[in-house]
Amino acid sequence: MNYAFDFSGKTVVITGAGGGLGTAMASAFRDCGAQVVCVDLQAPEHKLDGCIYRETDVSDFDAVASLVSELIESTGAIDCLINNAGISRDAPVWRMSEQDWDAVLAVNLKGAWNFIHHIAPHFRQKKSGSIVNTASINGLRGKFGLSNYSASKAGLIGLTRTVARELGPANVRVNAVAPGFILTPLTQKVPEKFIEIARQETALGRLGTPEDVAAAVLFLSSDLARHITGVVLTVDGGQVA
Ligand code: NAD
Repeated sequence: MNYAFDFSGKTVVITGAGGGLGTAMASAFRDCGAQVVCVDLQAPEHKLDGCIYRETDVSDFDAVASLVSELIESTGAIDCLINNAGISRDAPVWRMSEQDWDAVLAVNLKGAWNFIHHIAPHFRQKKSGSIVNTASINGLRGKFGLSNYSASKAGLIGLTRTVARELGPANVRVNAVAPGFILTPLTQKVPEKFIEIARQETALGRLGTPEDVAAAVLFLSSDLARHITGVVLTVDGGQVA
């Protein structure tokens, strides 16, 4: 995909950047001229040329604090943060373990809060910055078996809106994307019949790609979106339309 955005001179930090959506985002920002920092639990086997890799657990408050201050020091300044790391541990509420509830909330919601909390003083000081959180259409609707996941993504949407208000006066924008069903390592375990249901739910009659989500993240992070904050942009081919 040819993304018509210019991120030359910008540093973009992407969490979960070793996964399906994160890799597409990292390569898109890199191709648009950004210095890209890919954060994941482990660096992937095939690293993207020209990107910087850091291994950090987003749910670890102190580890994120150290990473953020090291990155501000080593890159000079951070311009864009993409909170994209996420996991799922599906089960109906009566069978879901406490560990699976806690794990999903810790990564999907607290992980994003950790990065925002530690980067906010830097963004406020330089009076600029953009944050995009990867939510989900399942944070906008109920979905069988996803009580932990949809609560985490609905929480992320609430976090997005509140932090948009808190950081807006410092010229910092905070938005979210809510992808529909996209085939990635996260969704590969989903049985074919549910993938077909997702396809049938879309208005466009097709599933999206990681590059479709990356395009929306680029737009929200770009100066073209300079008057957009506190929004949730669904990228779902009309799955919840
Ligand atoms: P993925 O599993 O391919 O990638 C997620 C990445 O996050 C992985 O590389 C994983 O190692 C990393 N990660 C997990 N826990 C982490 C932690 N504690 N610290 C640091 N990194 C961690 O999944 P994906 O489909 O690319 O999903 C990316 C984001 O998009 C997630 O937040 C997911 O909830 C969201 N999302 C995905 C879909 C979809 O259909 N694929 C739809 C809506 C939303």
